[in-house]
Amino acid sequence: MPDTTPPPDLLPWQWPEARWRGIVEKVRAGRSLKPKAWPGGAKVAVALSFDSDHESGELREGGSSPGKLSQGQYGNRRGVPRILDLLEREGIPATFFVPAVIALLYPEEQRRVASQGHEVGIHGWIHERNSILEARDERELMLRSVETLARIVGTPPVGLRTPSWDFSQATLAIVREMGLLYDSSLMADDEPYELIEDGEATGIVELPVEWIRDDAVYFNMNRFSALRPYTPPSAVLEIFQAEFDETVAERGLFLLTMHPHYIGHRSRIALLRRLIQHMKSAAKNDGGVWFATHRQIAEYCKDEAEKERKLG
Ligand SMILES: [Zn+2]
Repeated sequence: MPDTTPPPDLLPWQWPEARWRGIVEKVRAGRSLKPKAWPGGAKVAVALSFDSDHESGELREGGSSPGKLSQGQYGNRRGVPRILDLLEREGIPATFFVPAVIALLYPEEQRRVASQGHEVGIHGWIHERNSILEARDERELMLRSVETLARIVGTPPVGLRTPSWDFSQATLAIVREMGLLYDSSLMADDEPYELIEDGEATGIVELPVEWIRDDAVYFNMNRFSALRPYTPPSAVLEIFQAEFDETVAERGLFLLTMHPHYIGHRSRIALLRRLIQHMKSAAKNDGGVWFATHRQIAEYCKDEAEKERKLG
């Protein structure tokens, strides 16, 4: 495995080819895992995910502001219940990625999520930023997070979404060591693909994300920054629908990342409700929509790819 740590005496434009190539090849997109067809002849697969960050946004910065923590608690008190009610009414499964500290603060929330048929996935210990951690600390936190979620939910998680999609040079090795099924933090494609580490196929499924399909981009308000993106829900609905409609045309995967303390507000849960109605009606007469958890999609894509391989 090439050493990708830049020596202090060399600047990036002075690196030999082996160094920049080694950095790029550490984690790459391999073969596409987009299946030839979705289950039941569905036109499109839809994976809704909710990152239940709650108070971890403030905690991971080392903060202790009751004001900011209260914004996070809203995710538990209002956000998750509204989301679960909507998903239940619409009969849709989803995936909730939860930092272990949040699962410890709200074990009942996680058990309710799981009992309603949704998946609970890994989202770090305290929403730490992996790329600034030592590899051994990242590994230790990941092991602790998995053990904590398994104990609270009752079944071990099989998928990871790195906090803030901050996937480090060490993350994939840890994912492989733990035998996880999938990751959902990277952006090399619209469709599922296999992760490659140092040129070697890993068997790990990547379910790619994008900032375009993330509610935080449009709704995250920071009082002490010049950037205050209070985007109207109608504009966000327009973007998400346009993404979805093109996905239907390509018969692909539509994956959306949301956060209970953003999307759970009144005007925004209405946008999610309208989006779901749009998705259901858009594909109604042509195979419909396969709404599935990340786990179901990763398992299906991996199985289909294996069948294809055997057929040669
Ligand atoms: Zn998060």
